[in-house]
Amino acid sequence: HGKRAASSISAYLQGKEIPLSSQQDSAKDIEKIYKDIDPKKPKIARAKVPTLEVNKRIKNFKESNLSMDEETAKGEAARCIDCGVCCECFQCVEACKAEAINHDMADRWLDINVGSIILAPGFDCFDPSKYTQYRYAKSPNVITALEFERILSASGPYEGHLIRPSDKKEPKKIAWIQCVGSRDVHDGAHPYCSAVCCTYAIKEAIVAKDHSKDDLDTAIFYIDMRTYGKDFERYYNRSVEEGVRFI
Ligand code: SF4
Ligand code: SF4
Repeated sequence: HGKRAASSISAYLQGKEIPLSSQQDSAKDIEKIYKDIDPKKPKIARAKVPTLEVNKRIKNFKESNLSMDEETAKGEAARCIDCGVCCECFQCVEACKAEAINHDMADRWLDINVGSIILAPGFDCFDPSKYTQYRYAKSPNVITALEFERILSASGPYEGHLIRPSDKKEPKKIAWIQCVGSRDVHDGAHPYCSAVCCTYAIKEAIVAKDHSKDDLDTAIFYIDMRTYGKDFERYYNRSVEEGVRFI
């Protein structure tokens, strides 16, 4: 009923006539909308999302999950049991191993005291290719912080070994350039401080030193060091003690 309620509300708000079928649901109408699920229908496994072959992604930052082709995607969409008009078949309850679906749950308004609220709306990584002065698009050794995270990761392109993308040798020096794409009003950058990159640059410098066999020279070039958050100033102090340079 949810979809029909929404279309009736939409029609009402726009001053249009409410669709007749929403006003006159008869048992027969409902029957027409609900889809019977044939208990004899065989179960078919879901199609797998194709992935890039290991040898094509092992030493680079290419996305490993690819898209389904149109035919497979349409086949998967056709599996939908039309939950837009929930007929309480409880197949979702049966399928959810975590027992997270509760058809009796109703909306509730709660007043609760919390210390902090985490908003996780996702993000798009800033593309620094447009800044020719940094040569991101030209030099394989100029990478974003997220790509550097992948280099440091055991599941990353170099299995956690700290090596340069260009010649696969260990670097002797690494420089971090702060605020690229933030605190800037030019070339599509954001005028605000993203509030996290100073702290994760410090973390990356400390971890890079840990991963390096020889003494690694790490230098962070900054405008202001903004280590927001409880105790992150101590983390900054620790990095100075461990030899990270701030310029
Ligand atoms: S009970 Fe679950 S699976 Fe069945 S129609 Fe409703 S939402 Fe879909
Ligand atoms: S000041 Fe630090 S946290 Fe703020 S945008 Fe620059 S690098 Fe990021």
